[in-house]
Amino acid sequence: MYRSHNCGELRAADINKEVTLAGWVQKSRDKGFMIWVDLRDRYGITQLIFDEARTDENMMQRARSLGREYVVQIKGTVIERESKNLNIPTGEIEVLVNELTILNEAQLPPFTIEDETDGGEDLRMKYRYLDIRRNPVKNSLLFRHKVTQEVRNYLSNLDFCEVETPYLIKSTPEGARDFVVPSRMNPGQFYALPQSPQTFKQLLMVGGLDRYFQIVKCFRDEDLRADRQPEFTQIDCEMSFIEQEDILKVFEGLTRHLLKTIHNIDITQFPRITYDEAMAKYGNDKPDIRFGMEFGELNAAAQHKDFSVFNHAELVVGIAVPDAASYTRKQIDALIDWVKRPQVGASGMVYCKCELDGTFKSSVDKFYDQADLAKWAEVTGAKAGDLILILSGPANKTRAQLSALRMELANRLGLRQPNEFAPLWVMDFPLLEWDDETGRYHAMHHPFTSPKKEDIHLLDSEPGKVRANAYDLVLNGNEIGGGSIRIHDKETQALMFKHLGFTTAEAQEQFGFLMNAFQYGAPPHGGLAFGLDRLVAILGGQETIRDFIAFPKNNAGRDVMIDAPATIDNAQLDELSLVLNIKG
Ligand code: ASP
Repeated sequence: MYRSHNCGELRAADINKEVTLAGWVQKSRDKGFMIWVDLRDRYGITQLIFDEARTDENMMQRARSLGREYVVQIKGTVIERESKNLNIPTGEIEVLVNELTILNEAQLPPFTIEDETDGGEDLRMKYRYLDIRRNPVKNSLLFRHKVTQEVRNYLSNLDFCEVETPYLIKSTPEGARDFVVPSRMNPGQFYALPQSPQTFKQLLMVGGLDRYFQIVKCFRDEDLRADRQPEFTQIDCEMSFIEQEDILKVFEGLTRHLLKTIHNIDITQFPRITYDEAMAKYGNDKPDIRFGMEFGELNAAAQHKDFSVFNHAELVVGIAVPDAASYTRKQIDALIDWVKRPQVGASGMVYCKCELDGTFKSSVDKFYDQADLAKWAEVTGAKAGDLILILSGPANKTRAQLSALRMELANRLGLRQPNEFAPLWVMDFPLLEWDDETGRYHAMHHPFTSPKKEDIHLLDSEPGKVRANAYDLVLNGNEIGGGSIRIHDKETQALMFKHLGFTTAEAQEQFGFLMNAFQYGAPPHGGLAFGLDRLVAILGGQETIRDFIAFPKNNAGRDVMIDAPATIDNAQLDELSLVLNIKG
């Protein structure tokens, strides 16, 4: 038996017990006649004591030789601690050691294994196994486990069946690029790793499984953005014989269940807005609604004077920043510089202070009188003491810029509290999205999403106006999940592929398996997937998902611990019938 107890469980009630412990040396203190060692494992820290008066010289010497992170086993007696540490659960006792076995020595770790470490991100990634010994990372992994367990409990109780779908599949256009895997047995042929199990879960519905879920790895070879991982995990679900409303109810329930079991928070409201409203009010399809600062469109209120910048703009739009009328010229100039940064891209910004005495002071007083400015305040919902900030230009760009400013101000004003949770459904997404690069429409969600019946007639004339039965669940400004009601008949699916620019032959070649299946009695179905990594990070009150992933890749998509991706040798290339042609 390696241990009778773990390092986190001995208490005053255990005094006088003979125990065996095993773990890592966190640190030791040598007072000459006494040596204290903090022994650590996943469960906690227990203080060991070696005492000259009660321990033989040989063991004192071996105790003195223990370095940080040595792995040891000890036997000893639990005794009362003289100076108690009430900050840790084992702080009332210590273990007087009478047998010490060094199980493994350790080199000095490249960074300190403490809650606050001196190791930079790269170093910690390279030695991730050491990083995982630190409480913040270890606790994040335990937290993730708790979340996934609650997800499994909740869905299993509702008759969802967890099914594994294959990782080696066929490359299909689903939005992002596929990671591909060469097939040795089939020279020149490749598998692709799934961007999601989308078609398989639909086929499970055709198979009559009725309710499916899977906590599943997905792979997307996208250009990396901050805090994106090329492989990530989804809570993937699909249901048959349902309407949109049924799906929303199940996943509101799941979200409620998680917030209740994890944080003991009761969420009652799951407001819903349409995509169009979200864009108009927040300039964003995943708005953070924990705070206001909703957009006020000022075209009518601002385009009747001689201010040509506004007169020539497609959209003039502003927000009221609470209690910011007192900002100095310098503070406002800094904000103007901020929106002019290339990452945001505004060409300028107009402001209007709503003074406490009821008057207004704007940067365009030359053009607008007090009555005009009062109208601006009304439209943006500004009250006395607020600062109105206004951008203008092409509608979509200007909305995106103001959205970035709204989020930045909310961060600066401390309006985004990690322990406050505000979910929101965004509904009725457009079915298709114009892509300048390829010069054609793409499915905004994916090609299997059903258009709204009442909009199908617009497919030929105004494809951009067709709305989809698609919905996203947004939490605190993050899209945590999205899904749709699916097409379940061959004709509509073929029509959809046609509008996405596939020839009949191409559609058949890539998605024949799905359209054929639809001819054998496909039930009406729909579903959704939550992004688990992000969900766990938000529930854990953190911004970055990396700490909740055991072995994450860095921002360049590399695993710096195992050093992947890496080249393979010529023999392996030959076996796979591959010839490299590296340019540049
Ligand atoms: N497969 C979709 C995705 O990965 C989710 C869904 O429609 O269920 O976004």
